[in-house]
Amino acid sequence: MSWYDTHARDLPWRVGPRALAEGFRPDPYAVWLSEVMLQQTTVAAVRDYFYRFTARWPKVEDLAAADDADVMAEWAGLGYYARARNLLKCARVVASELGGRFPETEEGLLKLPGIGPYTAAAIASIAFDQPAPVLDGNIERVLSRFFAVTTPLPASKPELRNLAARLTPTKRPGCHAQALMDLGATICTPKSPACGICPLMQDCEGRREGIAADLPAKTPKKAKPIRYGMAYLVRRADGALLLETRPPSGLLGGMLGWPGSDWTENEPTPAPPLTAIWHDPKLEVRHTFTHFHLRLSIRMAHVGPDAAPNRGEFIDKHAFRPGALPTVMRKAHDLARDHWDALENAK
Ligand code: SF4
Repeated sequence: MSWYDTHARDLPWRVGPRALAEGFRPDPYAVWLSEVMLQQTTVAAVRDYFYRFTARWPKVEDLAAADDADVMAEWAGLGYYARARNLLKCARVVASELGGRFPETEEGLLKLPGIGPYTAAAIASIAFDQPAPVLDGNIERVLSRFFAVTTPLPASKPELRNLAARLTPTKRPGCHAQALMDLGATICTPKSPACGICPLMQDCEGRREGIAADLPAKTPKKAKPIRYGMAYLVRRADGALLLETRPPSGLLGGMLGWPGSDWTENEPTPAPPLTAIWHDPKLEVRHTFTHFHLRLSIRMAHVGPDAAPNRGEFIDKHAFRPGALPTVMRKAHDLARDHWDALENAK
């Protein structure tokens, strides 16, 4: 804890140890928002999103009143889009049913959409200083090494959870959790732990046994399958682009994207959104999702003002923001960008 008091990371959603001692308290909305954003995502990737969200929607009531499409567009690029849909649902429950106040206990938080055991513990601990044992990836690593837990993840999780529960103090539990997170992020790092400057080095079993860098052991993951698909990029004579909002559930649910075929492990079945002369610019987007790699080949077409697509709608070129697309769709946009003029000239 004394290490944390001196070395705590400066994070935009955090009230650091000095400010806490001066009587400042964390904003539960900021803690919740950051924890949801940080699921499967790094602090570096989250910072700018956090700034943009809190500038645009400073309170949970503001977010609850936002348009779904605006929130999805603001989330674009952060991935795992079910989080954004649950974020909105949760904000609406907190704003309309709980008077804008987040529950202070793990049990209460667990009842909210999109909040699982880890996030509930993190919010209870960080925002409300409850002695809830927190176990994120950083803490898993520190505990695995400190106690030389050699059972591979995820089988070791119950043991690590018990260790975290045993260690969680009743005094300043929120700082304790954040101290372990910071230690994991800055000193006990995945590839090369800086044991020489670690405040835990005297008692660290993993270091003593010389196995720290190999922990936590992980069960090898199965190789991901490859799926194939086609994306259709259509530009109308006035520069408008054809986009569609994907169905609300499922992968990239509710996000904007190019109309396309299904993504399958075999040759995809073409599914053009309108009749046109389709060009194959020999471009392929490569993107990796949690459970598969995607190879998306691009087809492009220029169409006249009367084009009538069977899906999606044309978005005016001035209203189109590439940043509102999820990463895989933005990659398609970026790859195709230089080919529109060649296509135009070839007509
Ligand atoms: S001594 Fe090394 S392995 Fe142990 S907790 Fe510190 S950095 Fe991690």
